[in-house]
Amino acid sequence: MTINKVVIIMGASSGIGEATAHLLAERGAKLVLAARRLDRLEAIQAKHPEADIVIQQADVTDYAAVEAVVKTALDTFGTIDVLFNNAGIMPTAPLVDGRRDEWQAMLDVNVTGVLNGIAAVLPIMERQQSGHIIATDSVAGHVVYPESAVYCGTKFAVRAIMEGLRQEQRENNVKSTIISPGAVQTELYNTISDKQAAQALHEAQTEWGLTSEDVAEAVVYAIDTPDRVSVSNLIIRPTKQQ
Ligand code: NDP
Repeated sequence: MTINKVVIIMGASSGIGEATAHLLAERGAKLVLAARRLDRLEAIQAKHPEADIVIQQADVTDYAAVEAVVKTALDTFGTIDVLFNNAGIMPTAPLVDGRRDEWQAMLDVNVTGVLNGIAAVLPIMERQQSGHIIATDSVAGHVVYPESAVYCGTKFAVRAIMEGLRQEQRENNVKSTIISPGAVQTELYNTISDKQAAQALHEAQTEWGLTSEDVAEAVVYAIDTPDRVSVSNLIIRPTKQQ
């Protein structure tokens, strides 16, 4: 069935964001796709010549760039129904390594990036008295794993922020959803600078991880609910994951 909604996807150029973009384009949604890699966004757009898709380069850590994406959505389509805050990185390493630059980068993308999206779009949704903000959290937002303390910290933060959003905005008909996947076969392992750890994760993902399409189905399920239904938290694990 057609999804007649305007959806912004931050972090749409690969993995879960890309799969969600394809699925929503096939279902007739109007899309604004953002990420840093414009060539990857162009390739998504080219696969759906019949669809209403606008692409825009943006780094989610740059508030002005996020605001510009939201402005493009509003100028192009006149309304914003959904913001999917999906951009994320996962340069995991033991705390003792002290990779402070990577900690900061994770905080900037995974937490500030989500906040930037909320700040740019929430006044518009409150004015509309309708809207839906979705964030890709993680099982790592519910459980702490060794060598992933900072990544888990960012995802715990996202869960707290999104629950606060839900509580503040329920009277305004603005929904809040976190999607919490377990391991998914994506390019996320490329952000791990410890190449041995990256390879181990990649192998596990390839062997039994979810596909990006599995997660995209969950995102679309949350989007395609009636106004009275708020899917606030969805955990999706590979069956074999601990
Ligand atoms: P990918 O690496 O395939 O996708 C990450 C996306 O985030 C890309 O589109 C990338 O685009 C974007 N991104 C990263 N940094 C920035 C930035 N500074 N500004 C704008 N966009 C950015 O991995 P996934 O699809 O797996 O990741 C999507 C989300 O899913 C993340 O939040 C991740 O934490 C979460 N997740 C992933 C799991 C997994 O096992 N793969 C499990 C649980 C959660 P570009 O580089 O072009 O900017």
